[in-house]
Amino acid sequence: MLEIIFTDRCNQCGDCVTVCPTNVLALTERQPRIADPFACQTCFMCELYCSEDTLYVHPDPERLHHPSPAHIAASGLLGQYRRDSGWDEWAQDPAHQNEHWRMDAVFTLARSRLPA
Ligand code: SF4
Ligand code: SF4
Repeated sequence: MLEIIFTDRCNQCGDCVTVCPTNVLALTERQPRIADPFACQTCFMCELYCSEDTLYVHPDPERLHHPSPAHIAASGLLGQYRRDSGWDEWAQDPAHQNEHWRMDAVFTLARSRLPA
């Protein structure tokens, strides 16, 4: 689920609000905010489209973990999904092509809810 917006990195482009399929994000005076965290599907689209690596989505689709912003900022996780998906400046780097494995928890959950 979407946990953190590092507003100091944000360029106010609004792309994260546009791409979110479930309206988790909203803009207030061009600044994105988390309006409905429990609507998050953990699809990582907001991370993928954020060119400033401003957002952190925790891979757990079930609950919020409230990680320390300082820890996440120092962890190297910001921008990891965009980079490892081979987007933007990473498009020509064969080492970073796809990281959709991070959605495994989402798919596992969906499978567990299918009728037997
Ligand atoms: S996509 Fe990133 S830079 Fe653009 S408004 Fe959202 S958080 Fe800010
Ligand atoms: S991870 Fe997906 S559903 Fe969650 S806030 Fe980002 S774009 Fe929206």
